[in-house]
Amino acid sequence: MKRIVIIGGGVAGIAAAVRSAESGWIPLVLETRGKLGGRATSFDDPRTGQSLDNCQHVVMGCCTNILDLYERLGVLDRLEWHRETWWANPPRRPDRLRADGWPAPLHMTRSFLQMRLLSIDDKIAVGTAMLRMIRMGLAGREAWCDRPFSEFLDEQNQSIDARDRFWEPIVVGACNLPCDEVAGNHALQVFQEGFLAGSWHATMGLATCDLRDLYDPAERILRAAGGGISLGTSVRGIAFDGIRASGVVTDEGLVPGAAVVSTVSPDRLAKIVSRPMVAIDRRLRDLDRFGVSPILGVHLFFETPVLRDDRRSYPHLVLPGRETHWFFDKGTVRTETGADLHHVHAVISAADSWMPLSESEIVERVLVDLAWAMPSSRGIEPVEVRTVKERKATFRAEPGIDAIRPGARPGGRGIPNLYLAGDWCDTGWPATMEGAARSGYAAAEAITGEGGVIADVPPGWLVSRLGLR
Ligand SMILES: Cc1cc2nc3c(=O)[nH]c(=O)nc-3n(C[C@H](O)[C@H](O)[C@H](O)COP(=O)(O)OP(=O)(O)OC[C@H]3O[C@@H](n4cnc5c(N)ncnc54)[C@H](O)[C@@H]3O)c2cc1C
Repeated sequence: MKRIVIIGGGVAGIAAAVRSAESGWIPLVLETRGKLGGRATSFDDPRTGQSLDNCQHVVMGCCTNILDLYERLGVLDRLEWHRETWWANPPRRPDRLRADGWPAPLHMTRSFLQMRLLSIDDKIAVGTAMLRMIRMGLAGREAWCDRPFSEFLDEQNQSIDARDRFWEPIVVGACNLPCDEVAGNHALQVFQEGFLAGSWHATMGLATCDLRDLYDPAERILRAAGGGISLGTSVRGIAFDGIRASGVVTDEGLVPGAAVVSTVSPDRLAKIVSRPMVAIDRRLRDLDRFGVSPILGVHLFFETPVLRDDRRSYPHLVLPGRETHWFFDKGTVRTETGADLHHVHAVISAADSWMPLSESEIVERVLVDLAWAMPSSRGIEPVEVRTVKERKATFRAEPGIDAIRPGARPGGRGIPNLYLAGDWCDTGWPATMEGAARSGYAAAEAITGEGGVIADVPPGWLVSRLGLR
């Protein structure tokens, strides 16, 4: 029997299913919700009458595995690529950071030096820290797994301005924890891979369709392999015969499988495994040690464009030193009455302190930051809003976390046909769609013996000579 039961239809579950189907196995994805995508999906909002993403999701050019998955799904052309990021810096116009034709790691040097956000001393200090990141290579990065990134910034004599205006916005956006809480190796990876390794790596990809539409082709691929997707099906437990997983238990009864892949979060997994399973499989022992970090997404609808000044419109804005971290221009939407509204999405990462706030309090704060970033928007009120609190957006990538992130394969006396995936597993990546796709590919390889994780984009020759990898 070649049926693989996959618990969860998020990115990891879809990745595991698509790759195992290609190897002749029969994947059956069981998803508790009525749609695919997990934490990277969309919902119908009755208030605005719009289909909204739970939050803006960004991929980068260095995300080889999620991009490979999109390609296999045939949706890669639904990404729009941004080679530059815009950094609010009022009362001046926003600064632009972009790669040019210089070889990595110098590809952003010219525009970085032109940014008015930082003093020349801070720029030199940031450049020195970047050089240190290159020279330390991958081994040096891993040596920071037990220390917060802020200690690296201390060692590199980074000023408060450099931290607030440069390091913090990037780290909190990518790792969903501030510099003084995130494990050094996670933050270092963002800079080594995303900013230094190559000129394409930092290019930002944004979906031009609803996130949930990206997964539509999965159903056809799995059906063609003899498998399928069962939405609205909750796994209540993993069936275990004392040695192997024999399938999963749902409200409809036992769903047998030759292999079981769990892609659910650690707290959910803890609910569907039994004590005897935990006793023999060490990957299941530390599930309660994973904390979570929230993200807040705020959809704002205006009658006039707001992300623009007298010279141009901005597709997005980073807000250095502010509570709101990003604004994204999501284009216009047509309401039921035929009016065109301008859709702006605000993102607040590591949003613990925002979780108790009411919607009106949240919107008030976000509008203060919008008026700061784009002074011309002052006084313009949104005609509709929708806040989305994702309390368990990502696992907390704190120092020491990598020691307990489990691999896909059972080691030692583990349950031989139970495979783990999900962004919290041992992927070498923070909690991202890239990490989720990697984990799914690794699980599929562990089962089928074929395929595997897609290699990183090779670094440029100069940065490689300098010692990055
Ligand atoms: C607000 C927000 C913003 C983000 N921004 C970005 C970004 O910009 N870029 C980026 O790369 N990443 C981003 N992420 C992270 C990214 O969404 C996740 O890392 C990724 O989607 C995780 O995928 P996954 O498959 O590992 O887990 P999940 O998406 O959580 O999938 C697990 C699935 O299992 C299902 N499930 C749970 N229990 C059961 C059960 N008992 N039976 C059946 N099914 C079950 C769940 O419903 C879910 O669909 C963001 C996340 C959030 C929440």
